[in-house]
Amino acid sequence: MNHLDVQRLRSYHGNTHDFVTLLRFDPCISTNSVNPDTIFANNEMSLQDIEIYGFDYDYTLAFYSSHLHTLIFNIARDILITKHRYPEGLRKYEYIPNFAVRGLHYDVQKALLMKIDAFHYIQLGTVYRGLHPVPDEEVIAMYEGCHVPLENMSDFYGKSSHGHTMKQFMDIFSLPEMTLLSCVNDFFMKHNIDYEPVHLYKDVKEAIRDVHVKGIMYRAVEADIDKYICYGEQSQAVLNKLSEHGKKMFLITNSPLTLCKGMSYIVGKDWRDLFDVVIVQADKPSFFNDRRKYVCQCVALLWDRIHRLEKGQIYKQGNLYEFLRLTSWRGSKVLYFGDHIYSDLDLTLKHGWRTGAIIPELRKEIKIMNTEEYMHMMTWLQALTGLIEHMQVHRDPASSSVVQEWIREREVHRQRISSMLSLGSLFRTYHNPTYFSRRLSQLPQQSFPRRTPLQQGVSLFGLRQSCCPERLATGPQNQSRIK
Ligand SMILES: [Mg+2]
Repeated sequence: MNHLDVQRLRSYHGNTHDFVTLLRFDPCISTNSVNPDTIFANNEMSLQDIEIYGFDYDYTLAFYSSHLHTLIFNIARDILITKHRYPEGLRKYEYIPNFAVRGLHYDVQKALLMKIDAFHYIQLGTVYRGLHPVPDEEVIAMYEGCHVPLENMSDFYGKSSHGHTMKQFMDIFSLPEMTLLSCVNDFFMKHNIDYEPVHLYKDVKEAIRDVHVKGIMYRAVEADIDKYICYGEQSQAVLNKLSEHGKKMFLITNSPLTLCKGMSYIVGKDWRDLFDVVIVQADKPSFFNDRRKYVCQCVALLWDRIHRLEKGQIYKQGNLYEFLRLTSWRGSKVLYFGDHIYSDLDLTLKHGWRTGAIIPELRKEIKIMNTEEYMHMMTWLQALTGLIEHMQVHRDPASSSVVQEWIREREVHRQRISSMLSLGSLFRTYHNPTYFSRRLSQLPQQSFPRRTPLQQGVSLFGLRQSCCPERLATGPQNQSRIK
């Protein structure tokens, strides 16, 4: 790029009219927006080959309103106060929507929430203690740089154990958990209360678990279903279409029996006629790996040995090995949809099932990516990066000064772009894919940005379509336009 090009490009910056002209005529700069309903494929798949469709329930068939996070936060906060005798002053804290994104890591011993990239580097500017960011210099001093060694990271399922100090929050239900952890840390710091961060983490984890395991959340949802569950008008039509085409369907969920009311609301009263097998309280991810629990009937004799899984019955517990033995539904003829990257979607690697990831955040991020402001900022960011790359070879003082100015401007731009998304993107750090994104891309699956695959429209399940990996160019792994 010669000097005139540089001057021309710089002169466009800050002048919207000329900048739009540049976008229109410069073939190097694309203004193509991404369809928020696009399906992203990691691997080619033909729906014609799929004979059996499996579904998770929470955030796959059932998508919850934002009220649910407030409900979980409030119940868990009150459990901390009443059961674990935490200070009454915590009641002043309320759920903060958009405070956290999925996939963040939490340093259990240091009580810090942060974003880590695919190469185990902490993204500076995203480290939070309580509700406030930690200065970069302090982060670098604490971690002796930004790298987190592999042995400190959580296990395959994102859990912190055996000396792992970093817990990764993977499911959508963990958003209120991260927010509650941050609020309690904030309260203790604000009031100069000396506390043990490891105990705090365990107490919050137990309180959140009580909300789910003791059925408190599900009972509250059942009592006010209109408030908490979003109605999916196409769901019944698509499930019927699958059934009419002779496709088998099954449901494996951690939810208790109360899901019946939710399924009636979403799919219709006859929903059980559509599913060949329904298993509740499955205890995923243990369901997929642990052979010790046996499937039993939900409302009949618990000790009765199950030799056949019958349509119309509802079963509970069990394990995948038993499920495969009883159904013979093995290999790539099965497509299973879920929203938990680790527990729902590594089935492909272990058992050969096809998997579809439900990632509602994709839709929101794509919509932000498609705004004119975002595209202009990203285009200028890319142009600046190109300028820096081209001009850095010139070592004279004047050129160095200009390059330094561009580097500073690029950092300001990155901050502005990052501020458009709370704690940034689910998929990108400043420079690299996130840890979450790397795990997602390791799985040969499809990613659906809408709340359920059923919302993609009946035509998708015309059962002759293919999903091809060419979409990757704009897919979650390669969203270079999202920082
Ligand atoms: Mg789920």
